Amino acid sequence: MNQQCKVAIVGYGGMGGHHADHLLELEAFDVAGIRDIRDSQQDLARNKGLHVYAELEDVLADETVDVVLIATPNHIHKEIAVKAMRAGKDVICEKPATMNSREMEEIIEVEKETGRRFVVNQNRRWDEDYLVVKKLHDEQTIGEIFNVECRVHGSRGIPGDWRQQKEFGGGMLLDWGVHLVDRVLLMFNEKVSHVYCKLNHVRNNEVDDGFKMTLTFESGRTAFLEVGTYNYINLPLWYVNGTRGSAVIHDWSMKGEVVHLETDEQKDAVPITAGAGLTKTMAPRRDDGTVRHLPLPRVDSHINEFYLNVKESIEGTADILVKNEEVLQVMRLLEAAFESDASGQTVAIENKVGV
Ligand code: NAD
Repeated sequence: MNQQCKVAIVGYGGMGGHHADHLLELEAFDVAGIRDIRDSQQDLARNKGLHVYAELEDVLADETVDVVLIATPNHIHKEIAVKAMRAGKDVICEKPATMNSREMEEIIEVEKETGRRFVVNQNRRWDEDYLVVKKLHDEQTIGEIFNVECRVHGSRGIPGDWRQQKEFGGGMLLDWGVHLVDRVLLMFNEKVSHVYCKLNHVRNNEVDDGFKMTLTFESGRTAFLEVGTYNYINLPLWYVNGTRGSAVIHDWSMKGEVVHLETDEQKDAVPITAGAGLTKTMAPRRDDGTVRHLPLPRVDSHINEFYLNVKESIEGTADILVKNEEVLQVMRLLEAAFESDASGQTVAIENKVGV
């Protein structure tokens, strides 16, 4: 490879533009140019001083290009990736890598056959909110985590054009679900035994404009994952239950807290009036020292690690962080989620999914 890794971006829309801006800030990378089918995007790139390739074939024939970065709508990721690897290019591909697990298996085959790298931009593994929850899990700060809930809420429906259509791989399960599932599988490092999913079609009958999914892991712990695009009041981004406490992260500004159980000593709860009744079980804890309120831990992370890891893994100096076997497991799990929605039943995974 060149000292600088030269990247050609195919699909110069929202995310393609974001990648270009980012890569140009990194010394280890250069942007060779872009390919987009729309004139407007070609003009935008030219105005930014970027080279514009007329056709995909011109990208693939350019010997100075090391990596093809695919940021097109989802339905053509596989086709472009296969062509690029066969042309001797390594590939960075946007998520969801493919439309289904069969396509992902095909990509893994071509990767083996050509010896090229295919790496998926699971960038939300570098989100601080996720890394804080993972830290709570890894360090057992609130004991054994037996339930996590992650909710991503918006109120504007599905944005844009292709995301609203099935043939292009639209819908929120493929869009955000792929991130949320990827992260909990990585965090718990445990097989999923069951998945239940209900897709929402608030205003879009063709694809889901949100979903609610419960993953049950072999140990019995659960992950509840929710995406909503018609939520005018947001629930917290994360709500986490451990055997010795709870944690909440309200939003991406990292507002939230940890409540830690300090002692197992039982002090008598005082019943409270709740609605039309009385409860002792649900009475809030008094300020009796049995729990402590802590700030959320913070985690330093930067998405640059992803790009640099791709370069280093191509050069053979690092193991790849986003592994294709993990991507394949997520695709299989999303298929189980679609199956659950169609049948209205919980789907047993039978060792097909999990790491
Ligand atoms: P977008 O619609 O803004 O951009 C897609 C671009 O691809 C458009 O400019 C379109 O003209 C172009 N295009 C379509 N077909 C093409 C082809 N055959 N050859 C070349 N260009 C083509 O969409 P977006 O929001 O940028 O999403 C693109 C991809 O990035 C999707 O896979 C999406 O899931 C992913 N994405 C990832 C993240 C993330 O955080 N990882 C965020 C947003 C989008």
